Amino acid sequence: MAGSVTPGVRSAASGPTIGVLALQGGVAEHAHMLRQLGANVKLVRKRADLSSGIDGVVLPGGESSTIDRLLRIFDMKALLGDLLRDGLPCLATCAGMILLAREVVDAAPGQTSLKVLDATVSRNVYGSQTASAEVTLDTPLGPVVGAFIRAPKIVRVGEGVQVLARRYPAQGGLDPEGDIVAVKSKNIVALSFHPELTGDATFHADLLERLR
Ligand code: GLN
Repeated sequence: MAGSVTPGVRSAASGPTIGVLALQGGVAEHAHMLRQLGANVKLVRKRADLSSGIDGVVLPGGESSTIDRLLRIFDMKALLGDLLRDGLPCLATCAGMILLAREVVDAAPGQTSLKVLDATVSRNVYGSQTASAEVTLDTPLGPVVGAFIRAPKIVRVGEGVQVLARRYPAQGGLDPEGDIVAVKSKNIVALSFHPELTGDATFHADLLERLR
């Protein structure tokens, strides 16, 4: 029927605008998923893309040391840190999680991070690309299927950081207690894995729910 909308899918024209950091890494899958949920997507490639007109931000996977270097080269790092400290709703996956962390135990030479998430991250604990896996995780939002690709793991969380998911040994986790692979701290949700690659929209829908 003309003018009808699919139930549950908002019209993009009236929807929120999510900035997807697009300096390097897996940008397209996040953009696709957000558009499917009715959001407008703005690819963030320069400082001006960040400074206005976004209601939330996605930090994708990729190579965290490269994204960090590009953020500094393009003079975006301090602004992004300020926006996140100021409460901009954020979903970060994999390299994005590493970028947010207060400490990175195995950082590349010269690699820095935004230090807006009170957590310590280890970058490459699960081995090489070939050790990648698709895992169904229990989260407060229900089961979420994520792809682990050269995935980081959180080895310490600060007070006020909520653990949303653990990867247990039966799922390829290393710690008998379960590796911490998803956390929430105020406006930030950070995941070790990639739900955008398995088509699981749970955390993207949650981001849209969390917008100011
Ligand atoms: N371990 C990678 C890094 O250091 C992240 C991998 C990913 O984003 N899939 O950036």
